Amino acid sequence: MKSRNVIAETIELTKVYTGGIVALKNVSMSVRKGEIFALLGPNGAGKTTLFKILLSIVKATSGETEICGLPPSTPESRNSIGYLPENHNFPYHLTGAGLLRFTGRLYGMRKEEIESRIEELLETVGMTRWASTRLKKYSKGMAQRIGLAQALMPDPDLLLLDEPTDGVDPVGRVEIRDLLRRLQSEGKTIMLNSHLLSEVESIADSVAILSGGRLIRMCSIDELTRRQCRFEIEADMNGCDFGFANESVMII
Ligand code: ADP
Repeated sequence: MKSRNVIAETIELTKVYTGGIVALKNVSMSVRKGEIFALLGPNGAGKTTLFKILLSIVKATSGETEICGLPPSTPESRNSIGYLPENHNFPYHLTGAGLLRFTGRLYGMRKEEIESRIEELLETVGMTRWASTRLKKYSKGMAQRIGLAQALMPDPDLLLLDEPTDGVDPVGRVEIRDLLRRLQSEGKTIMLNSHLLSEVESIADSVAILSGGRLIRMCSIDELTRRQCRFEIEADMNGCDFGFANESVMII
C-alpha cells in the first residue's frame, strides 16, 4: 500500500473463473479513507467479483490486493469490513433484531456488546419500530436498511455495499443516501457497486468505471460530470426558404 490515506487497493488484479470467463483484467484502483467510492458498470462488468476478492470469498488469479494494509486472506483484514451483499438471502424467519444478534455472534461479539449495538443500530437505520417483525414481512427498503445495520454490526472502517439502493423506491433511496452520508461524516469509508450513473452521481466522491472486467476510468465524480460536452449541429439550408440563401448555419 503506497499511502496511509488508502484503505483498499488493487494492483493489476485479474480473475479468470473456471471455464475461462475473464471477470477482471489487470484492474488497479485505490480507495481513500473517508470517501464514498463507487464501482460503476453494467451487469457482468466484474463489480461483485472485485468485492468478493476484497472479502476473500473469491481468490484472484493474479495481482495484489490490500485492505487496511493487509492481504484479504488475513482474518484480521475482515474485522475492519462490513458487507451488504446484492440479493441477500438473510434467514426470513428471523426478526430484524434477531438478524443483528446472529451477525454479532458470527463476529464473536460479547452478549452485552451485541444488545447495546443492536439498539444503537436499529436507531441509526430507522428500524427500531420493526425490530420484532420477521424479515419476510419487510419491504425491499426495510430489508436494505436492516442489511446495512448487519454490515455495521462490527463497527467497520470500510463498508462494502453491493447495489444498496437496487429495487428500493425513490423515497427509500433518498433515505439510504442520507444514511450513507451520515456514516461518512462519522468517519466510515464506503465502497458501493451500482449499474446506475444517476445513483452514484448523487452520492459518490470518486468512481471507477468497469466494463467487461477492465477499468475504463477512475476519477472524482466532479471530474466525470464537469467535462463540458459541446455539440455542433450543422444544418444544410439549401433549398429551404427561411431567409438564409445558400448557407449552412452552425448552431453551438
Ligand atoms: P457484476 O457484479 O458487475 O454484475 P460479476 O462480478 O458478478 O459482475 O460477474 C463478472 C463476470 O464473471 C460475468 O461474466 C459473470 O457471469 C462471471 N462470473 C461471476 N461469478 C462467477 C462464477 N462463480 N463462476 C463463473 N463465472 C462467474
